[in-house]
Amino acid sequence: WPKKKSIHSVVMEQLPGEVIAILKDLGKLADRLHYKAYAVGGFVRDLLLRRPNLDIDIVVEGDGIEFAKEFAASHGIRARCHKKFNTAVLIFSDKLKVDVASARFEYYQYPAALPIVEFSSLKMDLYRRDFTINTLALTLNPDDFGQLIDFFGGQRDLKDKIIRVLHNLSFVEDPTRIMRAIRFEQRFNFKIGKQTATLMKNAVRMGLIQKLGGRRFFHEIDLILMEENPVPAVRRMDEYGVLGLLASGMRFDTRMEELFNRIRNMISWYRLSFLDEPLEGSWVYFLGLLSGLHRNDLEKVWNRLEMTENQRERMLWTYGQVESLLRGFFQLPEHRPSDIYRTLQPFKPEELLFMMARTEREEVRKAISHYFHRYRRVRTELKGKDLKAMGVPPGPIYRIILDELIDAHLNGEVKSLQDEWGYLKVHHPEIFENAEKNMSSGMSF
Ligand code: ATP
Repeated sequence: WPKKKSIHSVVMEQLPGEVIAILKDLGKLADRLHYKAYAVGGFVRDLLLRRPNLDIDIVVEGDGIEFAKEFAASHGIRARCHKKFNTAVLIFSDKLKVDVASARFEYYQYPAALPIVEFSSLKMDLYRRDFTINTLALTLNPDDFGQLIDFFGGQRDLKDKIIRVLHNLSFVEDPTRIMRAIRFEQRFNFKIGKQTATLMKNAVRMGLIQKLGGRRFFHEIDLILMEENPVPAVRRMDEYGVLGLLASGMRFDTRMEELFNRIRNMISWYRLSFLDEPLEGSWVYFLGLLSGLHRNDLEKVWNRLEMTENQRERMLWTYGQVESLLRGFFQLPEHRPSDIYRTLQPFKPEELLFMMARTEREEVRKAISHYFHRYRRVRTELKGKDLKAMGVPPGPIYRIILDELIDAHLNGEVKSLQDEWGYLKVHHPEIFENAEKNMSSGMSF
């Protein structure tokens, strides 16, 4: 029988009022339909660890789709249903979603020898999960609201800070769990249990990861690189022999570790400086991870991870450009702001952060930082429509003139609309001659 214990007070202390209200409403609806409903998995784990997590997964012992539809209808929100999997998502807002899964006995295929009576549908659902710390459930029905249900010793493992699989075939069943174990171990500063570590090493040795599809493997790597600090997790991947599977030349040595730490600093700096700008931090690390590889190995990794043609080309382009700029452009003694702007403009922020981490030279980092802070958003006051109003004939000349004006802004030669007009008078007098002709023929601007 599972261990039960009320964690009502933790729920009330840790969760926002809005979330508590939703959980209670889910429980009330479950009662009305004569179902049982539980919050499960990472949400409950993080609740006990006091880590904010609004990815709510619930399991209902009953028809999850009917449940979700009823809930959505009575709350004026949207439910996205996946009939094939008997799951649904309740969408409250961009940030707040509830995943609903159905645990029904008839959905499970189980060996005939299992003692059926002991296996509730909830237990069956939780038994399919990866680690004990992810098998905790929280009852939502009103009479038991806030009751923690622990079938597999998840609470003890949370307390002892241990990542443990539920059974010996876990990694055989799903090799992505090898990467998940590493990710959780490092994120929570836990330890992979002894037996689990042995099973993992065996799984790697048996080549189970090689059975993983490229896209799934890539996704798991991406998830690791998306962690707040992926450095220790990548080191662990190397220790478990996972990096070596990607390409024999791939190692997480001190040089790579230093590069990763610099990347981490650059990403933090960027995120702090530009709070609302999107940034795919994992791509910066990924560029770092593959940066030392020879072409042969690089291609092996691309193929293994089934990377798209676009990703491959962009990666090659980035490496080539970064090296050539560090050896060429950035060796010049001085740069005008417009030269820096024109040189760095083709790069995405992720690629520039990689370049900043890749170089040891402070002046290069400074130039890129100026680009981010001062140059990249510079706009002209005059727009294409103004040139049109002046009778400039359509063609590439628009881009040329506007680019010149941007450069003049960057280099401090013009500061206002008036300056821009002045600049055009000197550098493109033909526009004004044109305009005068148009004026005399009755056009106005
Ligand atoms: P994160 O905090 O990184 O989002 P999570 O565990 O909270 O991790 P998901 O990765 O979305 O969230 O997984 C949700 C739940 O589904 C997990 O808590 C786990 O119980 C289960 N799960 C996910 N992946 C697997 C897997 N490969 N094998 C078994 N169970 C899994």
